[in-house]
Amino acid sequence: MNNHGGDIVLNISALERTYGEGEHTLTVLQDANFQIQKGEMVALVAPSGTGKSTLLHSAGLLERPDKGDVLINGHSTAKMDDKSRTALRRTTIGFVYQFHHLLPEFTAEENLMIPQMVRGRDKETSRKRASELLEYMKIAPRAKHRPSELSGGEQQRVAIARAVANAPSLLLADEPTGNLDPETSAHVFDTLNVLVRQTGLSALIATHNHELAAQMDRTVTLDSGQVVDITK
Ligand code: ADP
Ligand code: MG
Repeated sequence: MNNHGGDIVLNISALERTYGEGEHTLTVLQDANFQIQKGEMVALVAPSGTGKSTLLHSAGLLERPDKGDVLINGHSTAKMDDKSRTALRRTTIGFVYQFHHLLPEFTAEENLMIPQMVRGRDKETSRKRASELLEYMKIAPRAKHRPSELSGGEQQRVAIARAVANAPSLLLADEPTGNLDPETSAHVFDTLNVLVRQTGLSALIATHNHELAAQMDRTVTLDSGQVVDITK
């Protein structure tokens, strides 16, 4: 099961993703190949509509490609059933969306506890880890507040903390600071950057912000359905 390259956390192999049927098909990814090593932070910078979300959703096992394979820590997912894919996703991947996707009726702390308890952690252990993460993301004083009572930057910090609550090996973020003003965006990214660096996480982060991209290890873009490295 553990094939070539023990340090490759994400391996996208000959991936193809087509939407629609008949004459209305749109091929978004075509023979896309791409790898992320352990500890690597990669920026995905490409114009709207080129397939960034499609690539992230495929890499995050949230949607199935039409062809090709996504290997997570060397585990091929092409032939896995939905149950196995979900189990692998829950243990290895954290996902951050552009809009926070937090549960509105729960507090920030509870939003961090729930995914841990789904994984089988007891309530007090989950609460302790939630507190540590909120502290880490510099939002501990907001722990007992619901998402609607938080600012956009705070909501995204909670969303990032939630994504790493179960200590994934891969963090995927789809324009995580896209809805924030430049200053807040820089602050949220700084915290995210420190978190990724200090925990040895691997990350693929879609962004339109070239300043943020420049702080990552590499930059890739999408060109005619393929992933192309454009690191300067
Ligand atoms: P990006 O995130 O870079 O803006 P997306 O991955 O969201 O790009 O979309 C890539 C292309 O695929 C776009 O043209 C979009 O309209 C199309 N697309 C995305 N999702 C679907 C879908 N579920 N059905 C049909 N077309 C889709
Ligand atoms: Mg998108």
